Amino acid sequence: MGINRDPNSTMKWIINRSVQEPRVRESAKQPGAGQGGPQTLEQRLARELGQDYFTRTPPPVIEYDTEKLARRARNDNLFRQLLKIYGRLPEVTCGDCGHVCCSDSPDMYLIEYLHVWRHIRYEMQDPDAEARILGRALQWAFLKFVAEDIFCPFLEEGRCAIYPVRPLNCRVWALEDEAYYLAKAERARESVKKQQEYFERHGVRLLKPLKEFILPRCRNIRIHGRDAHLTEEEIREIDIETAFLHKALVRPEEFRSINFHLHFPGIVALKRIPAGEFDEARIAIALEYQAGGASARLDALAQKYGGRLP
Ligand code: SF4
Ligand code: SF4
Repeated sequence: MGINRDPNSTMKWIINRSVQEPRVRESAKQPGAGQGGPQTLEQRLARELGQDYFTRTPPPVIEYDTEKLARRARNDNLFRQLLKIYGRLPEVTCGDCGHVCCSDSPDMYLIEYLHVWRHIRYEMQDPDAEARILGRALQWAFLKFVAEDIFCPFLEEGRCAIYPVRPLNCRVWALEDEAYYLAKAERARESVKKQQEYFERHGVRLLKPLKEFILPRCRNIRIHGRDAHLTEEEIREIDIETAFLHKALVRPEEFRSINFHLHFPGIVALKRIPAGEFDEARIAIALEYQAGGASARLDALAQKYGGRLP
């Protein structure tokens, strides 16, 4: 199955590190929108693909074959271009605060997922490590807000297991200036309100209110080679270039059907659960876990993957 790109989906959990605007914005539908300010991805797409791009009915969800797409991305040098884009960000020295930022899991573009997937499958070549990452991704997807101690699936013994290919979200974390962080945190608070209501309506007891999962701004890093943090405009430019690598990978008509920017555990979960059934499964698994400290349904789902990232 493919991944549905539903702008209202409750899949967009805590978007604290997302550098992307909500999907369909009024401004994206209006000619000339965004002139003079930071451009959104939607505005760039609307300019390139037509102003009605976001208002046309999207085509049916497209299946994608990870192996095949990863091969295509490699043959077309897209991974190399991706690393080049990442390379434009300044180096930082992390203040080693104890992995606050790695308690969440990053959003990533499909091109980044393929990059990470390929690294794990063909560079790491460690089936046990892959199975552990997969297991943690499923735990994150279904139990993050009801079970203790669920960190980014890539965090292993206090280290990032995929550091050389970590996605843009992780790379720009803590580089953004105060204004951009505050704007994103505000959007995240709005987004989690609906999710909080959704969980409560279904009787799920959360570990703490969802807004408390929003990561605080990191103030412990040192940025090399420049005095100031990055502005929204600077980050957006890099974000859009990354998104356009994804665009180079799929046909325009597929672009809206294959979700191109999603939370990592969501990418994993939605490859085995149809998007329309995901929310129901998440509630059922959370309730099961809440009642007995384990979920047979989650265990059964994990079996379907055979220890391999999809
Ligand atoms: S980047 Fe910041 S939040 Fe993340 S571990 Fe380093 S100091 Fe902590
Ligand atoms: S991918 Fe790596 S750097 Fe990013 S949140 Fe996960 S463990 Fe941390």
